[in-house]
Amino acid sequence: MPKVILAASISESFQQFLISKNYELDMKYNNPDSIAQAEGIITSTKLIINKDFINQAKNLTWIARLGSGLEIIDTEYAASKNIFCCSSPAGIANAVAEHVIALIINLQKNIVKSARQVQQYLWIREENRGVELEGKTIGIIGFGHIGIKVAEKLSVFGCNIIAYDKYKIIQHPFVKNVSLQELYLHSDIVSFHVPLTAETNNYYNADLFAKPHVVINTSRGKVAYTEAIIKGFQSNQIIAAGLDVLDFENEYPFSVQNIAQLASLKNYNCIITPHIAGYSFNAIQKMCAELQKKLELCIFNE
Ligand code: NAD
Repeated sequence: MPKVILAASISESFQQFLISKNYELDMKYNNPDSIAQAEGIITSTKLIINKDFINQAKNLTWIARLGSGLEIIDTEYAASKNIFCCSSPAGIANAVAEHVIALIINLQKNIVKSARQVQQYLWIREENRGVELEGKTIGIIGFGHIGIKVAEKLSVFGCNIIAYDKYKIIQHPFVKNVSLQELYLHSDIVSFHVPLTAETNNYYNADLFAKPHVVINTSRGKVAYTEAIIKGFQSNQIIAAGLDVLDFENEYPFSVQNIAQLASLKNYNCIITPHIAGYSFNAIQKMCAELQKKLELCIFNE
């Protein structure tokens, strides 16, 4: 019986679909025998599918990634071996976009900060006055699946939405396509939605912005390094930061140096969540349905 390696939790209906295709589901994603026998792999971030891995997986014909990016897969090498690769960016986009809105509103309205104070029996109103989103300019960097969803959700708040994407001209009814320089000039809030590449590594530098701003990063930690965020706060260029990803999150449990960086961010209006933006119950279902459709079309020709 051909095998599918499950290196991610998938929905019951997706499991049933794979079983109906006569696959045996194998959870032993670190086992060389399982890898050698696998015809398909479903993974989130647990496996780095590089050349060595692909060479071990001699029977592999497809790789399905539960999540948006394919950066953990050597897709070029996979293509050279006729291995079909797909991901599920549409299924996860709404979850991330909602998280972005939650971070922005929480920061603008001091919700997390003031709620923490009340837990310590403090009732502080003046320093927790909010700032409204209406009239603010939001700069979106990277206008793909998530960037578009963020813009759509923001459209009801009466703010100006501008966006820059290096690889496309943005044509959207309520989003203004701008250059990166224009985005740096006008943004009150900036939100990153780019993949991590050599070009986007260390993208964020608070000094490039014309005015103090709020920075949101739900893309990858190395797009906006913690050091760059701390520097931005120290120079008063950052008013607030909402981060769902950290450059050192894969090194958990954190080193003394990482803890020192997190401790220094406690002094500022900064909300950090543990890479959960796309991690909703609904997103898993939607991503599984998206992957199933792609496999039906490209592997089973249905
Ligand atoms: P996508 O591929 O649909 O969109 C990315 C966009 O960025 C593309 O339009 C691309 O042209 C643009 N881009 C690439 N390089 C650029 C550059 N140098 N400058 C400006 N724009 C550039 O991806 P997506 O589904 O919107 O996801 C974006 C990123 O969000 C993912 O790569 C992933 O790293 C991250 N993500 C995070 C979570 C989470 O839970 N926090 C979940 C899903 C995705």
